[in-house]
Amino acid sequence: MKPLAATQTWKLETSNFITEIVEKNIAGGQSHIVTRFPPEPNGYLHIGHGKALVLNFGIAARYNGKCNLRFDDTNPAREEMEYVNGIIGDVKWLVGHEAFEVLWSSDYFQFIYDRAVDLVKRGLAYIDDDSSEEISKKRGAPTEKGTPSPYRNRSVEENLRLFQVMTDGHFDEGACCLRAKIDMDSPNLNLRDPILYRIKKVPHHNTGTKWCVYPMYDWAHGWEDSLEGVTHSLCSLEYDNHRPLYDWFLDQFPEYHHPRQYEFNRLNITNTVLSKRKLLQLVKENKVSGWDDPRMPTLCGLRRRGYTPAALRRFIEAAGCSRTDGIIELGMLEWFIRDELNKTAPRVMAVFNPIRVTVTNYPEGKSELVAVENNPEQPETGSREVPFGRHLLIDGEDFAEVPAKGWFRLAPGAEVRLKGAYFVTCQEFVKDEQGNVVELKCTYDSQSRGGDSPDGRKVKGTIQWVSADHGVELETRLYGPLLSVENPASIPEDQNWLEAINPESLVTATAWCEPGLAKAEVGVGYQFMRKGYFTLDSDSTPGKPVFNRIVTLKDPWKK
Ligand code: ATP
Ligand code: MG
Repeated sequence: MKPLAATQTWKLETSNFITEIVEKNIAGGQSHIVTRFPPEPNGYLHIGHGKALVLNFGIAARYNGKCNLRFDDTNPAREEMEYVNGIIGDVKWLVGHEAFEVLWSSDYFQFIYDRAVDLVKRGLAYIDDDSSEEISKKRGAPTEKGTPSPYRNRSVEENLRLFQVMTDGHFDEGACCLRAKIDMDSPNLNLRDPILYRIKKVPHHNTGTKWCVYPMYDWAHGWEDSLEGVTHSLCSLEYDNHRPLYDWFLDQFPEYHHPRQYEFNRLNITNTVLSKRKLLQLVKENKVSGWDDPRMPTLCGLRRRGYTPAALRRFIEAAGCSRTDGIIELGMLEWFIRDELNKTAPRVMAVFNPIRVTVTNYPEGKSELVAVENNPEQPETGSREVPFGRHLLIDGEDFAEVPAKGWFRLAPGAEVRLKGAYFVTCQEFVKDEQGNVVELKCTYDSQSRGGDSPDGRKVKGTIQWVSADHGVELETRLYGPLLSVENPASIPEDQNWLEAINPESLVTATAWCEPGLAKAEVGVGYQFMRKGYFTLDSDSTPGKPVFNRIVTLKDPWKK
């Protein structure tokens, strides 16, 4: 197995109960830390999986260990190569880990099968002809004992023979299964003779038609960890009561390495659905445009929306890792990307609901380039040249026919600074038949070039503008939370959760912006002054750019 790639440049910074355990183990002499991320390729990864990724890869990097990406491909009926490729790309994107090893549970099928035969030979597993409904009914409840199957006491010879017949494909799906013989009275239902193998006559992407029996997750998982030398097998809290089973299986084989399982709380986020099954439903029922719809909490959706891996990792670390379930505010996720973009995003001028401005004392046909600062937070990023002329567009929000007290933007008779350009004074306004202001006639002060006062007179308002002759038209997509229900877990099971979709989760608007944005690059976040952070969407076509709003400038929820 390859060592940890040198390209991973980050590690988990914060400490939690797992890092404390790892440090104790290292102090106790454990020399090498091995973790793994074990997705089932039955959907794309979401930000909850992102948490498991950050913990597993982040801990391995912090303690100079290694982390495998292992596909849990034990159920050929649900798994697809499209998801495999998507997951590999998403993992590389989030953890920046170019050369991690990609491993497959299916590569261990023979070994895992042989261990099941060992259990049968020792009288610790049997072929059960009960149907799956009977098996779950007889399993009982935590407060009542289970009912043993009538097939539980078959002889070793008969079980060996039947397991072989089952493996050779002579039984139909559902006809029988192999169960471990543990304890039908255990208070932990997972120990009441769990199923090890079931028949599935489905070809597998890796093993083809070689197998028609496939191992169950609980039986396979410990072996996969063991064979890879995993030291700390990290999973979410719902596996807590599976740990006794994980340990029971490996305890039967003391000659093999026995990893330890640790459980952490799942990531839950308000107004956000984090379940592959439900995300698949959104895709299948066309409630979103695909797995990478920018409203989706998938890693590919967040990437298309304009989130960066560093912002997601910082959010995940800040959300914390403990053994207590909770729900994190969506606003906190937004805070982390806003904080990053505030430092890095170039500023651009983009106007919505535009009003035309005619600069009446500026010559027709003339234009010039003025320098506009790129990022006031980072003066070293310099400035860019933006064309200015007689015909401009300003944002509809920057003019008031009857200004309120304290209004510093444009109004009849008022003077403002056009950012980076000149002072202008509104002399006149023109309305259309509906009474909307559609044009302002302004004069400019040619001595105020660069937006500097020529004679010390003060102008309080600075507004953005775009040259009407040079500006670029954009489609912008403004997003809200996908769900209007704050806690998705509060939706009753018998209610159609799709009704909780926020009808305003996607609003489109046309904007005009400075021409430089025609050369915007995918993956770069720009600040549209006062409107938020935006990034170029993959739906863009030449001459028709589409921009996603990544996040607003301030959290409108926090008043
Ligand atoms: P889902 O519950 O969304 O269907 P899953 O658990 O079935 O996801 P897997 O592919 O089996 O999906 O998960 C891979 C790993 O990601 C597991 O170790 C699982 O514990 C972890 N994981 C899944 N969802 C979350 C979450 N919301 N927060 C933290 N870890 C998660
Ligand atoms: Mg799960």
